[in-house]
Amino acid sequence: MHLVDPEASIYVAGHNGLLGRSIVNKLRANGYRNLLLRTSSELDLRAQRPVNDFFAENQPEYVILAAARVGGILANDQYPADFLGDNLCIQNNVLQAAKNSGVKRLIFLGSTCIYPREAPQPLKETALLTGPLEITNRWYAVAKIAGVVQCQALRRQHGCDFITLMATNLYGPGDNFDLASSHVLPALMRKFHEARIRGENRVSVWGSGKPRREFLYSEDMADACVFVLETPEDQLNRVAPDSMLNVGCGKDLSIRDLCVLLQEVIGTNCAFDFDLSKPDGTPRKLVDVSRLTQLGWQAPTSLRMGIQKTYTWYQAHCT
Ligand code: GDP
Repeated sequence: MHLVDPEASIYVAGHNGLLGRSIVNKLRANGYRNLLLRTSSELDLRAQRPVNDFFAENQPEYVILAAARVGGILANDQYPADFLGDNLCIQNNVLQAAKNSGVKRLIFLGSTCIYPREAPQPLKETALLTGPLEITNRWYAVAKIAGVVQCQALRRQHGCDFITLMATNLYGPGDNFDLASSHVLPALMRKFHEARIRGENRVSVWGSGKPRREFLYSEDMADACVFVLETPEDQLNRVAPDSMLNVGCGKDLSIRDLCVLLQEVIGTNCAFDFDLSKPDGTPRKLVDVSRLTQLGWQAPTSLRMGIQKTYTWYQAHCT
């Protein structure tokens, strides 16, 4: 395994987000000492000039682009222009600046919602742009697709070593637990927790409970990012000629089964019912992880263990 020089400067864009925080911890644990970090108030990635200045001044050797506007199914629906526009700006600015300053390798965080709604499951990287998207998150998906394709174009035209990792639904300590904007796992964790504490006997679950989702612990995703950062280019090119790698745990479950698991971990038998006025979104999102498996990476944390750790964090920080 080729190791990146521990003194190399690595810019982690979005280091205060759910994934960015875990990436920083993982890089530090692996001995990297020269991390470049900027909060969004120090560096607004939506504005090209400050991004160009930052790259010209600091010349990062490696970049992990984990900065993005993210949110759950309703937030996407309510703020379509932000989900599309902010993500397009952020990634265009960073990708162009990284190309201009000669970054050695960049990892761009994609998402599994880029795949067509009806693509065969498990979703292979080659399903990209083979059919229509799920309507509820198309704004975010179109932006991320543009980022994936831009990485491919920069590689083709300028030889940039830019790789996209398609992360499945992430969760973990430091997640967004706001009920209006969060993803399903933190939202339902909070709802079941509050029902237990308040002695309520019913939790409202959006949609039919039938959609299936795959969940990946944020620290496992960070582990995959650093693993790919350290993998030699010829190995990556062999398994991922389109520079795309799915990252998931390889298993999915229905939202109903997720509720049962959350009940067990949180220690409540509070009943739940389904609010059919809310959207289901895509029926299933399970990724084919065989490319990363071939390279030797597998998600180490089981869903139950990840939920337990996240719940411990939630109780310590949010209650
Ligand atoms: P998606 O994976 O892009 O669809 O985003 P979400 O994580 O927001 O939603 C996943 C599924 O969980 C959808 O079918 C939602 O309707 C369902 N769901 C059930 N209860 C909730 C909830 O309280 N919050 C959210 N965000 N989704 C919920």
